[in-house]
Amino acid sequence: MQTRFHHLLSPSIGTQRTLKSLHFGEAGRGEKVYLQASLHADELPGMLVLHHLRPMLEAAEAAGRLRGEIVVVPVANPIGLAQTMMGDHMGRFEFASGENFNRNYPDLAPLIERQIVGKLGTDAKANTALIRSAIREQLAALAARTELESLRLTLMSLAADADVVLDLHCDLEAVLHLYTGTPLWAQCEPLARYTGAHATLLATESGGHPFDEACGQTWWKLAEMFKGRFPIEPACLAVTIELRSENEVTHEQAQADAGRLYAFLVHRGVIADEVPAMPALLQPATPLAGSESIVAPFPGVVSFYKRPGDWVEQGDAIFDVIDPLGDRCETVRSQTAGVLYARESRRYATAGQWMAKVAGRVAFKTGNLLSA
Ligand SMILES: [Zn+2]
Repeated sequence: MQTRFHHLLSPSIGTQRTLKSLHFGEAGRGEKVYLQASLHADELPGMLVLHHLRPMLEAAEAAGRLRGEIVVVPVANPIGLAQTMMGDHMGRFEFASGENFNRNYPDLAPLIERQIVGKLGTDAKANTALIRSAIREQLAALAARTELESLRLTLMSLAADADVVLDLHCDLEAVLHLYTGTPLWAQCEPLARYTGAHATLLATESGGHPFDEACGQTWWKLAEMFKGRFPIEPACLAVTIELRSENEVTHEQAQADAGRLYAFLVHRGVIADEVPAMPALLQPATPLAGSESIVAPFPGVVSFYKRPGDWVEQGDAIFDVIDPLGDRCETVRSQTAGVLYARESRRYATAGQWMAKVAGRVAFKTGNLLSA
């Protein structure tokens, strides 16, 4: 294993943050896999999972069983990790800009289109190699003006030429679920099985340019741009893995999750080991545009009827909102059938606040599909 340090742009005199990446195996041989944890810095389960995955990768490397390159960034966001206010850790938005750490990653497809036009051929693998090298060049040419931009560029530069990118997050209260690109579902299905995902939410344009989409989207956008002329494969399986609830951080769970990721890497052929039996798929993938965010119609105390992982039918009672001053109590029901995959952890709702999310099978939303 090789360790590399990446110095972020210094935002202020006397301050500089550093990102650390761990490199296993050999670059340029076999597939490249990239894993990072806690881009939303207060979402900690992934850090512990990568802590447990590391000795497994070291053992595989020592035994000569790595057939590719694996890059691990166990702490993807040192900026957010240091942000606390009045005792609360706040790692989702950068204090300096108010921006979400998992939004606004660069859209490389238009830049790469200009660079590769006239150079593509009929060999899909050769096109993949050409596009990967263009990705590296385009990212190297982008200049960061702020610390946050330099964090985004550093992470993208480590990840964007990989065959597999796994971005480990968690939700407030949730069962394990995945977000990925619609064209990637066939490649993602084994990951959904090995990780035991209760939902996989698919989109080609979720809005806001999150990290996984910035890595995966380049490929299907270029495929569309050169459609009918040159073959371009969806060569980067980029997935956001939501590792359940933010407070589910235990050795037992993390060790099991590390084992599940290891099983997927073996299945993928990056590690030479006995391929573990493929578990059943818990739920088919559903469109992100079919996910219903169930909101509180007025402010009040919330009492839930349903838990993460529950299947709900259309019309099922999800929670009550109680206004103790107005003596008002209303039951809020799901408009959609599907798995309730996430819910709010607070029990006081402001008007219009989302309290639960249900993975419906029929797309009904347009525009920005991600919550802030
Ligand atoms: Zn997150």
